[in-house]
Parts: sequence; structure tokens; C-alpha cells
Amino acid sequence: MEWGSASKLMDDRPAVLITSRTALKVSQPFINNININETVIIENSHREYVESIQIKRQDIAIAYLVGAGQVNDIGRYLSYKWQLPVISIPTAITADAFLVDCTGLRENRGVTYQPSKRANKIVLDWELLKKAPWNINVSGCGDVLSIFTGLWDWQHFDEFYDVAVATEAKGILDALISQKNSIVRPSQKALEMLVNCLAMEVQLCYLYGNSRPEEGGEHFFAYCIENKIGHCLHGEIVGFGILLTGFLQNQDITQIKNFMDTISMSYLPSNINEKVVIDTLRELPQYVREQNLRSSIYNNFNYDQSKEKIKSFFKLINL
Ligand SMILES: [Zn+2]
Repeated sequence: MEWGSASKLMDDRPAVLITSRTALKVSQPFINNININETVIIENSHREYVESIQIKRQDIAIAYLVGAGQVNDIGRYLSYKWQLPVISIPTAITADAFLVDCTGLRENRGVTYQPSKRANKIVLDWELLKKAPWNINVSGCGDVLSIFTGLWDWQHFDEFYDVAVATEAKGILDALISQKNSIVRPSQKALEMLVNCLAMEVQLCYLYGNSRPEEGGEHFFAYCIENKIGHCLHGEIVGFGILLTGFLQNQDITQIKNFMDTISMSYLPSNINEKVVIDTLRELPQYVREQNLRSSIYNNFNYDQSKEKIKSFFKLINL
């Protein structure tokens, strides 16, 4: 992983560019020195669609992933299938997707994790990243802030709670929150801090063996609601899930919400409303069982008993 200028990448190997429509527009001037032979535009992360993507040329030697979370997630999976080395050039920091070695594919209303390729190289170019709105760029905090609710679920609902791993995870969460005032304004330094926290979170989960330290009810809520409202920016919907889940866990969410508000992190996807949140909460206990998700507050959640609490949550976040 390095910070530098993407336009300095000179590569004459026949390359496939894996990107999205929006990313392609902004990134064009940054990838002029790459020998792009084919371009794949990622539309969604449904397995059937992803499996149908093919490259025509046999001599493609490398994949360039230019985009945000979904492009990196799916691009690493395709590169794994096609046995290509991967260079990732993120266009916004919206999730930990550019750092990991697995990919969440959507099927049967859930997310199935598949092994995929870890990027051989990640080039973080501030000139490119700063073109994304700041509230979108810092939505990547979601995959670090989710430690807040993930650890709570782990501690309260799992048989094995690893105190040492949990303490480390808490340290990463606290480190990010302590940088609040440095992340307020757009700067490379701010994104460096966020990316470092994401990298530590990913590394910790990797060493532990799974994402239990950072994945709990907030992610499960996000997976479930996406069946109703369609694809959202991962960090944004996870951000919403953290506030809601933390509130339902009876945790004090003031500090987390204050952090999100201060750095202008986006946590209200445009297509979210009270009704769809309520429908999701009603469905969640069945959903987490059906999808075989790890234990969380949602396994035995009873919407009717929490009605009033949820009303006050809507008020608190101005939904
Ligand atoms: Zn996540």
C-alpha cells in the first residue's frame, strides 16, 4: 500500500480495467499510462451477474481496480477467478474492501463470503480521492466504528469472547475516534489515518480468523435492509446500522454519533425511511437465523417490545 500519484503508474502489460461508471469518469486522467485492453463496468454484486462477467482476450496479464467498495470487492473476486495480479486504485474510502482477501457475493437475500485475491498493490492518490465528496470518503469509518457494536454482540451473545483480541479492537476504535478533529477537514493526512485504522482492523480480523471483532448486528441490519432498498454505500448503511444497533443495545451512542456528525460522515442513505427500517427490524430475527449469521442482539429481537425506543431513535437522528 502506498500513497502516490496513480498517473505515474506505467504499465504496458495488456490490462483489464475493472471499474464503475462514476469512477471511470473521474479517474480517466489518472490512468493514461496503463495499457487498458478491456474495460469491465461493475453493476452489482449478485452472484449470478458476477459469474457471468467474462473477458474476451486471452492475453490479459493484469487487472486494475479503479473504484470504491463494490469495484474492489468484485474486482478482486474476478481477478482470483481469472488468476490475474491486481493493482487497486481506490477512488473513495467507503469500506475495507480494497484491503481484504475475501468477497461478499449476494445471493438468496444474503451475503456469501468467497475467497478472493488480496490486491498485490494499492495506490492511494490524494488528487484522485479528493474528487469524491468528503462525506462519502469518510464513510469508510463505518468498518472501524462497527467495532463498537460488533464487540458488544460478541461479548454478550457468543460462547467464546477473546478478551485480548477485543481489547486490541477497542484500541483501534478509540484511535480513530481520538483523531476526530483531524478528520473534520478533507486532507490526505485525514484519509491516511482512516486507512491505517482500516488496515489495522483488517489485520486483526485476519489474525483472529474471522471478522467477529468488527461485524455484528450493525452489518446484519445492513445486509437485510439492502434487500429492500437496493445497494448502498457500505460505510453509509453500516454507519446507520451502528447507531441503531448501539441504541438498541442500550449503549451510549453519543460519542459515536458526535464523531460521525463532526467529520460529516454520511449515515443516512437517501432511500431510507422509517417504514423500511421498521420492516427490516421485524424481519431481522428470522433473517439472521435463515442466513446463519453470528449471534447478535437481533437473534431474539422483538420489535413490538422496542417500538417506543425505536421511535425515540428516529427522533434522535432526524429520520
Ligand atoms: Zn463491512
